[in-house]
Amino acid sequence: MCAETKKKPSKTAKPSSPAGPAKTHDTTGAKSDARQSSPRCVTADVTAQAQAAQAARAAPRPSVAARRVDVTDLILARAPRPRTICAACGAPEAKAHCGNCRLAYCGARCQRRHWKSGGHRDRCDDVRRIGLDQYVANAQANAARERAVATYVAEAATAACGFCGKGGQLLRACDGCEAGAGFFHLECLAAYAATVAARDGARSERFQPWFACRACGDDFRGVGRLAVAREAWRVYNGLHPTDLHRVFAMNNLGDALGAMGLHRECLPVREDELAVGRVHFPNHTPQIEANLARCHTQLGNYAEALRLRRSVVAALQKREGPLSRMSLEAARGLANALGDAAETEEQRAVLRQLWPRMRRALGDAHATTLSCGAKLAHALVEKGHACSDSVIAEAEDILWECLEAARDGGADDDVTADALEKSLEETRRLYLAEEADDDGDKFT
Ligand SMILES: [Zn+2]
Ligand SMILES: [Zn+2]
Ligand SMILES: [Zn+2]
Ligand SMILES: [Zn+2]
Repeated sequence: MCAETKKKPSKTAKPSSPAGPAKTHDTTGAKSDARQSSPRCVTADVTAQAQAAQAARAAPRPSVAARRVDVTDLILARAPRPRTICAACGAPEAKAHCGNCRLAYCGARCQRRHWKSGGHRDRCDDVRRIGLDQYVANAQANAARERAVATYVAEAATAACGFCGKGGQLLRACDGCEAGAGFFHLECLAAYAATVAARDGARSERFQPWFACRACGDDFRGVGRLAVAREAWRVYNGLHPTDLHRVFAMNNLGDALGAMGLHRECLPVREDELAVGRVHFPNHTPQIEANLARCHTQLGNYAEALRLRRSVVAALQKREGPLSRMSLEAARGLANALGDAAETEEQRAVLRQLWPRMRRALGDAHATTLSCGAKLAHALVEKGHACSDSVIAEAEDILWECLEAARDGGADDDVTADALEKSLEETRRLYLAEEADDDGDKFT
């Protein structure tokens, strides 16, 4: 993959990936990255080290033009699909664009207005020079940083940057550091993280500074996490699609957006990730599809989520076998998607197959097995669906088997056990209610 990191010419002002043969690297690394949907799992070997080092040096400082946030930048920064939003009025699905820089417009009126009074005249060449994608990434990174800095402005008043020791526009992104600690300048963190990411070896640790606090080790979260993830995307998005830095940054950004509940923004990131994966990392596509399906579910696009989940199950069962953990996990995702899409009959069929497989693969008392059994019982007696006596009996049997297994084997940890108990109780209550309804029918 990535044999020669050929750049689209003059696409970005940034981490230019110098020509020259990059070391071939192990794509399985990027696979596991995608599989876990977690940046910490990048295990591949680096691309050309020198290239990354140069990217790191070139990376963290946005151009002056890129630092100034104006209305256009805000429009772009907030748009889930900035390539098709009118830079003048913010209307989505803009069909026209500037012939020079490719910024999108509703039409000639908006474009003319933006040229005369919207500042486009001063920017058009800047945008063209660094490329629209980079320009948008800069605007998004700046907006995310401003938001994070504003969030912590009071707390940060007396704090100092954990990297350079100075004050100023600080943010934080962890819970582990004490009050008043854990602050950093985004530029300082980015410079450090890019340097570490450019090092050889270390693999999974290489990207850690981009997603976990150097001081306390906690994963980043909240607006600080998003600011850091946007910054990483600003730094790496101009690299070749197969460059693992870029692969990581895209995956990390999708995760950060999803964790923030910004699913509309997450969607195009996941779609791009899938497009890259399909071409360059076909082994990762099931996990990317699963992430994309999650995003669609959050947006209420249940049919699309279902389509993706089916594809994931088919691919993994073929590749890993039906009893592999990945396949079981995928089938669980499919069962949930079927539930969301109100495909109850098929959901039952999938769960009827899945539960015995989990018992074989994971054991009767495994928390996942138990919750799957509970889900199956729940699906069988779900309210609003007429069920025969034999189905109710089946659900009852399943529940008793789960309860016995849970009591005998004990779930793995208290939290799981508690959650399971609760879900079992709820299912039982539902079942009992169903039974009461039946009785009512019989005796009145
Ligand atoms: Zn417009
Ligand atoms: Zn232009
Ligand atoms: Zn600093
Ligand atoms: Zn911390």
